[in-house]
Amino acid sequence: MDMEKAIEEHLILACFTKNLIGAYCLDVTEDREILMRDQDEERGEERAVSTALRAEAEAFFPPIREQSRETQDLLFRFLSSIPSSKERAECLKIFSNKGLREAYELGTIHIVEEIQCLIDGHLAWAVKQAELFVSPDTGHLMAFLYTRNIDKQKKNERIMNAILSRSSDYVGLINVKRLTVRFQYLSESISKGAPHWVGREEIDFERDMFQSLEGFLLPEELEEVMQKTSLAFILSELQDKTVYTVTFLMHFIDGVERRKQVQCYWIDEFHEEILIIQTDITAAYEKELSNEKIRREAVTDPLTGLLNRRGLRTELDRMQKAADAAEKPFFLVMGDIDYFKRINDSYGHNAGDLVLQILAGLMREFVKDWGIVSRSGGEEFLFAIWESSQDTVRERLEDFRRKVREQVILSGDQEIRVTMTFGLSRYDASTTLHDAVHDADMRLYYGKAHGRDQVVG
Ligand code: GH3
Ligand code: MG
Ligand code: MG
Repeated sequence: MDMEKAIEEHLILACFTKNLIGAYCLDVTEDREILMRDQDEERGEERAVSTALRAEAEAFFPPIREQSRETQDLLFRFLSSIPSSKERAECLKIFSNKGLREAYELGTIHIVEEIQCLIDGHLAWAVKQAELFVSPDTGHLMAFLYTRNIDKQKKNERIMNAILSRSSDYVGLINVKRLTVRFQYLSESISKGAPHWVGREEIDFERDMFQSLEGFLLPEELEEVMQKTSLAFILSELQDKTVYTVTFLMHFIDGVERRKQVQCYWIDEFHEEILIIQTDITAAYEKELSNEKIRREAVTDPLTGLLNRRGLRTELDRMQKAADAAEKPFFLVMGDIDYFKRINDSYGHNAGDLVLQILAGLMREFVKDWGIVSRSGGEEFLFAIWESSQDTVRERLEDFRRKVREQVILSGDQEIRVTMTFGLSRYDASTTLHDAVHDADMRLYYGKAHGRDQVVG
């Protein structure tokens, strides 16, 4: 695990969670007492994990060095306030020179869960987590103690994950009463330089947003996005939503399009601060699209585009449930192309494929808004039709049968004509799907045996 990144995560998390009660930096490379001693001049400047992290730490906490005496007192108080001797022993083990050196050597992170602390004889606060990070490069140790308000912390952690996954372009914590920004993260794409964090600033959020989007959105889109990301609009949306989301497409000069999402949340219970995160969702969106494509392909016959057997099963189950719930019937039709083998034999397999595709188009048109059709076998099709009158189904099937027989299919300079035979059965709650399909099948074969090119049932 990348320690510096982990430490940075905690610094950032600390900015969001007011339940962080301490962040401490210790040098564990030398034999010394467990607590940071500021009066010990030798260690002076070395205490921050790195200059950059120190600067960040200082931006969000009172300077660490000046805090250290207090820190020391607090840590002593912390250790001595743990009523459970087992928990105290565990903490001491970790905070001891030996414990720290061990952590340093192993480069591990210690996590102490749920330590109850008594101050002046009563439960004053509880540490939910004490986390110690040792940076193997610098030998410095960072300790973070959190109080128990863990629900809020979890929620914030989720948000933090979004930020730290580095997929976010922008993260802003905006005080809507004072119209100030407590905290901002600007990614490379927004800052047009190295990604960086910005502390408290008086900024015009809407103007900033405009500047970062102008030139990347089509004019009409820009207007709409600006309206939807105005503070007034966000506030009105957050009145009855826990999260408000806007998505838009950014267009770059090289023709690249990126899909962006802006999400807004209330971060505090007093409705003072809104967290605004802009994330690049292009990859996730494309993945979703391809998942959708895979899902569709799984239920579709590639040659004809009709439902395949698997898709048919799902759709039939759905229709059966709906029909049973509404106490309604529906009709099943088994259709099969007559003497199809001859088509292949006389005109070739490709011509056979073309016939299947053209007939599939006619069938899809036939059941449109009326039911479904699937390719249940090679040149066999099963329809399920929402209808309560068998006469209506039969009449319309007769029309369709005539349409098929009149259809001329051109394959090269060949004119191909085919006919189809259909078997019809009724499904309702008094029977089973299996039996209804079987009935349609039997009627189809009756038709095959009695001259083909007909509707039976
Ligand atoms: P019947 O009127 O009794 O249904 O006769 P038929 O020739 O249509 O029936 P049979 O079951 O004997 O032959 C079906 C043929 O359909 C055999 C098979 O080669 C062909 N077939 C199945 N799937 C495809 C396909 O995807 N493409 C092509 N071109 N032919 C296919
Ligand atoms: Mg056939
Ligand atoms: Mg067949």
